[in-house]
Amino acid sequence: MDFGYSINQSSKIDMDRASGDIAAQVLRYEPSFAVCIGCGACMATCSAGRFTPFNLRRLQLMVMRGQTDSVHAEAEKCMLCGKCRLICPRGINTRNVLLAIHHFTAPAPTLDIR
Ligand code: SF4
Ligand code: SF4
Repeated sequence: MDFGYSINQSSKIDMDRASGDIAAQVLRYEPSFAVCIGCGACMATCSAGRFTPFNLRRLQLMVMRGQTDSVHAEAEKCMLCGKCRLICPRGINTRNVLLAIHHFTAPAPTLDIR
């Protein structure tokens, strides 16, 4: 039955598996990542989000929480068009953030961006 709303599945974080290592590496490469307020403005303009379930805000949140199991595959959906960077009210270089997430979560490094 459609009540016009749905209930989100509960989200649990396994703190034994969560690690802040990826977030620390991304922050070292792109320090502006630290000032994200999770407003979601980047998603309002996202080209990839328009055609796929990709969600930059959620991706960044997962990295910050250390839930990095699926973020590499998610980051691959980004087309690096840069529209999110233009709209971000905090001036975050979101393209660099995405490149860093993609790089540091790769099974083997894909780019030398150090
Ligand atoms: S628009 Fe900027 S501050 Fe807002 S969620 Fe996206 S990256 Fe974070
Ligand atoms: S650079 Fe990636 S995350 Fe940003 S708007 Fe383009 S497709 Fe979306």
